[in-house]
Amino acid sequence: MTVLLADPQIAAIPARENGDPLVDVTSFGLLYTGDGDAGRYVRHALALRLASAQAQLPGGIQLLIREGHRSPEDQEGIFSRYSQSLRREMPGLDEFSLRRLTSRFVSPIGVAPHVAGAAVDLTLADASGAPLWMGTPIDATPERAATRARSTPRTSARTRA
Ligand SMILES: [Zn+2]
Repeated sequence: MTVLLADPQIAAIPARENGDPLVDVTSFGLLYTGDGDAGRYVRHALALRLASAQAQLPGGIQLLIREGHRSPEDQEGIFSRYSQSLRREMPGLDEFSLRRLTSRFVSPIGVAPHVAGAAVDLTLADASGAPLWMGTPIDATPERAATRARSTPRTSARTRA
């Protein structure tokens, strides 16, 4: 069973600032290719875990950080835009269902870990920094990812088109 961050039981857990500073992931030997500078920052404890994970990857493969810290305004914007796109696709959806469906992919501001610098969007890259193909683009919505997940590899899908 999936429990969303937006679940009332999760949202009821109080969040407290622990004083762990935001640090630049590149200073931990991690590759960052996100938009703007804010996304290169994460909490120090998270940067240590990412560096540890990277050290355990096979040779020639590295983590590629796309976004860590995110402003509250950006979080609200992403949530709102995705919610609106779901509304267009499913105009009969009630507000509760729309919020729940949106929350599968984007955390509401009250529980959004990116805003705290406590989450990263990442993928794997080769030694040159080129992202490895994971079956869908890194920001694929659940709708697109699910569709792609059931499909055959991209080269096969292309030849069938
Ligand atoms: Zn994320």
